[in-house]
Amino acid sequence: MTDLIQVNEEIYYIAHDANYGVVLTGDDTCAVIDTGMDDDSAQLILAALDVKGLKLGAIINTHSHADHYGGNNYLVKETGCKVYAPALEAAIMQNPSLEPFYIYGADAPEELKQPFMMAKVSPVDELLKEPGLQIGNKKFAVISLKGHSPNQMGVMTEGVFFCSDALFSLKAWQRLILIYTVNVGEMIKSIERVKKVPARTFIPSHAVPTADITDLADLNIARIQSLADDILHIVREPATVDTILWEVNDKYHVEVTSLQQYYLCLNTLKAYLSYLLEEDLINYKFDANRLLWRTVE
Ligand SMILES: [Zn+2]
Repeated sequence: MTDLIQVNEEIYYIAHDANYGVVLTGDDTCAVIDTGMDDDSAQLILAALDVKGLKLGAIINTHSHADHYGGNNYLVKETGCKVYAPALEAAIMQNPSLEPFYIYGADAPEELKQPFMMAKVSPVDELLKEPGLQIGNKKFAVISLKGHSPNQMGVMTEGVFFCSDALFSLKAWQRLILIYTVNVGEMIKSIERVKKVPARTFIPSHAVPTADITDLADLNIARIQSLADDILHIVREPATVDTILWEVNDKYHVEVTSLQQYYLCLNTLKAYLSYLLEEDLINYKFDANRLLWRTVE
């Protein structure tokens, strides 16, 4: 059984594969923030709420990655709760095959349609947007954290900021190296934004909750900048995207062994290439039908 970990009188989180928020919105009703990957995580959330006699009234989803909304389908069927999600992310949750589709860029092989990449469909009742919303007796501030996904949002209530996948633990950086992002510039801006939020507790999805996020935020920005520098170094010699990916993974001893891992790394690398292109630090040319990236002379 997974317990609710208390943050303050009316706010808890569940530490499982990720941290899910639980916020009281009435005497015996609550909202959860993100729902994990599948029916199992949904059942675990319901069991934890049951121990406290809490009924689920609402789900707030921060973004549309399958490991953040995969429990929705089960929870909505079981409880009839309302779902809040950011625009664009909501479109993917309502059409989950879009995730393997955008990761692969065409209809994807079955291996990319597994639960981690494609959750069960979720309804969305209301869009989650800045500056905030009210659910029951609770006010939530909504803060844009785009970059890791196109329109990720964090929510803060009573000084507790659920900052989702805006930043990751050192352990995650050491294991994954090319941590998933669709927009590097926006991801850096979002991390800077997190640093300025006057929260008493920060609860990232994939790092230990903390009262002071500064060190973790700085570490995330440093890792992103160091990857950008690695890529700049590699493309001093014109290189294809696959060569760059091979060199980055080789440098950090990452062994790519699945289509899922390959495409997540590849798309993240492409986000870095867009960022460096935008910053006028690299450009590209075609050479005998090969697309080559290189540093600007
Ligand atoms: Zn994510």
